[in-house]
Amino acid sequence: VTRDAEVNMKGDPKVAGIAISSGDRVIFPRPKRTKLDLARYYEAAAPLMLQDAADRPLSLVRLPEGLEGERFFQKHPGKGFPAALKTVMIEDSGGPAPYGYLSDAASIVAAVQMGTVEFHIRGAKRDRLDRPDRLVFDLDPDEGLGFPAVRRAALDLRALLAELGLDSWALLSGGKGVHLVIPLRRTVSWDTAKLFCRGVAELAAAREPKRFLSEMSKARRKGRIFIDWLRNDRSATAIAPFSVRARTGAPVACPVSWDELPGLRRASAFSMEAALARGWAEVTPPPAQSLNAAVVSALADADRG
Ligand code: ATP
Ligand code: MN
Ligand code: MN
Repeated sequence: VTRDAEVNMKGDPKVAGIAISSGDRVIFPRPKRTKLDLARYYEAAAPLMLQDAADRPLSLVRLPEGLEGERFFQKHPGKGFPAALKTVMIEDSGGPAPYGYLSDAASIVAAVQMGTVEFHIRGAKRDRLDRPDRLVFDLDPDEGLGFPAVRRAALDLRALLAELGLDSWALLSGGKGVHLVIPLRRTVSWDTAKLFCRGVAELAAAREPKRFLSEMSKARRKGRIFIDWLRNDRSATAIAPFSVRARTGAPVACPVSWDELPGLRRASAFSMEAALARGWAEVTPPPAQSLNAAVVSALADADRG
């Protein structure tokens, strides 16, 4: 008897075909959201999530006891995960290791059954892990810096990228910041992609050192925004669109249009219900672009200018 079948015999409710145990466990106290609520949210959000997050190696943030309990940042789905969450073997520091990836609603709900609240994704897909197809600039404001400064930073970084010939879309992180995402054609290596992103962050910081910095140091951040380019690494991850965040109020990482961004008051503006109701309606991610010689030389020119 498989683990799934045992659970079924207890009469646990099924969501996307996955039996949810302890469905009435409270994961978020306010607004009150149980494990079953979370499973149903993710079942409904699955088509929205899969659009960007399918086939990418995952890191999961699990909070089996809810927001007040212990949290685990987990890369390898261990024993006990339903088979619906498929895995791909990836060479790690310690040898080949299994990573989960999303393939359908059941794969997402399987992770929720294991206490997952947040889904983090890599910038490459499982069939071509050495080629990034998704660049992310993660704007991390100093504590105390309000959202208006973050908003402005996102719009300005968008303009800088446009100067280099790159179109981006915006994701409210559900936490404090905004992520700019650039869909990429799979023509360059991680080394090239990372070097390019570092160059963009350093250019922004050199142009406006009072607003931006390109180093992680929290001590040096003081009133500024760290343009986190380090997400653009083979083994790094960023929050998946439509992932719930394990933060007060159960906010969702939500795509937003450049037009509506100036009117938004915080990065945690969207609840599970609001995010589901919106979907991708406001946002059309630009087509995959090339990090070609023209873009790279545009960065070099901008650097000199
Ligand atoms: P915020 O807007 O509040 O910064 P965020 O999702 O951007 O929210 P960050 O702290 O900037 O949060 O983290 C950026 C990314 O780094 C996360 O999305 C995640 O994928 C990754 N990350 C976070 N915590 C860990 C961790 N403990 N180990 C490895 N990677 C992590
Ligand atoms: Mn961030
Ligand atoms: Mn960051």
